[in-house]
Amino acid sequence: MSDFSLSLNEDQQQLRKWVHDFSERVVRPAAHEWDEREETPWPIIEEAARTGLYSLDFVGSIFSDPTGISVPLVMEEIAWGDAGIGLAIFGTTLAVAGIFANGTSEQIGEWLPQCFGTPDKVALGAFCVSEPDAGSDVSAMRTRAVYDEATDEWVLNGTKTWITNGGIADVHVVVASVAPELKGRGQASFVVGHGTPGLSQGQKFKKMGIRASHTAEVVLDDVRVPGRNLLGGKDRLDERLARAREGRGGTRTQAAMATFERTRPGVGAQAVGIARAAYEYALEYAMQRKQFGRAIIENQAIAFKLARMRMLTDAARLLVWNASWLGSTGGTFVAAEGSQSKLFAGETAVAVTDEAIQILGGAGYVREHPVERWHRDAKIFTIFEGTSEIQQLVIARAISGMHIQ
Ligand SMILES: Cc1cc2nc3c(=O)[nH]c(=O)nc-3n(C[C@H](O)[C@H](O)[C@H](O)COP(=O)(O)OP(=O)(O)OC[C@H]3O[C@@H](n4cnc5c(N)ncnc54)[C@H](O)[C@@H]3O)c2cc1C
Repeated sequence: MSDFSLSLNEDQQQLRKWVHDFSERVVRPAAHEWDEREETPWPIIEEAARTGLYSLDFVGSIFSDPTGISVPLVMEEIAWGDAGIGLAIFGTTLAVAGIFANGTSEQIGEWLPQCFGTPDKVALGAFCVSEPDAGSDVSAMRTRAVYDEATDEWVLNGTKTWITNGGIADVHVVVASVAPELKGRGQASFVVGHGTPGLSQGQKFKKMGIRASHTAEVVLDDVRVPGRNLLGGKDRLDERLARAREGRGGTRTQAAMATFERTRPGVGAQAVGIARAAYEYALEYAMQRKQFGRAIIENQAIAFKLARMRMLTDAARLLVWNASWLGSTGGTFVAAEGSQSKLFAGETAVAVTDEAIQILGGAGYVREHPVERWHRDAKIFTIFEGTSEIQQLVIARAISGMHIQ
């Protein structure tokens, strides 16, 4: 009578198994080493490229899945193996999404392949928005792009911070202010290709977690890019600026918010992957570890923790799947479901990994076991791609229709 189902079909099960096998065979065994080295795991990215996991074709296929489920399935499995390596592999998709959302079809055709390179020579993409004084408040951005009519070039100046793959990417998508008086509505995105003079890496950050993922400042010093590197083209930008100056139409802001609702579940899915890894590990440990002559899981104090860890992880996954499905089937987001999923999954990952450490006791606190790493990794999910406070702001505004501060 009804065709509603939460069961995965054959293809989806196969996809999940394929990615899980890669994650179990290649990603998880390498996790400790790259966390300690705090370097981009190039050999793992190359292996992902050889197997087809790191490729435009694969990323294109999962993002165009009409059910929306492929992206969270893949992200959960990879992050189950290791969230830092997962971001090293899939951080490029931030730049890809930026080009895809704002570029013309020619720009998409030109730049997306360059974000991935080839299995013999892999490339990375970076998406550069955040600045030292513009984190949650993107409208405070200071990086400027000025048009040089004589040469049909844009000249970019400014400093971006906390940029995943910043300075080591072959393709940097840079969001800059073209009309500062219009604040958030006076911004545009530019592609800075490999080897462009003036773009350099500033400091590389030493982080608490996801340490296999490279995070750095990107310094733009009189970076000149051809006019055609303005995503969407100049005519569209001029039209948009004119509308903003006349105080008309906030369609681009609405479109950006809708894009976030569609991309946040993918981030939430990574947090689900970490939570699941920690839950599974703690469950196994609690059944093996004996104190007072019995397995520690035989104490309700431990068993109930595991029950809640499982429940929270499953609930987070359902929110993620719901928001992904809504985003891909053209459904309406009425209560910022994408933000809800990312908020809940991020906080779940932090809580579940914290409990996993507790269940392992001293063993949970040392690096011989992975749970302390998972806890360090989990924390970023309440910060990047919109902090937990900002997600709540978005949800509160969506449900009330009011401009909550
Ligand atoms: C590892 C890592 C990778 C990243 N990768 C990228 C990337 O690839 N590209 C990119 O552009 N950026 C990236 N970021 C930046 C990330 O998106 C920002 O850190 C994030 O948006 C928060 O900005 P902020 O750090 O400046 O914090 P702030 O905005 O200064 O916030 C500080 C605190 O104040 C709270 N707060 C701020 N405003 C409000 C408000 N209105 N109401 C209530 N609370 C508020 C925040 O929630 C937070 O708790 C990355 C960051 C990290 C750490």
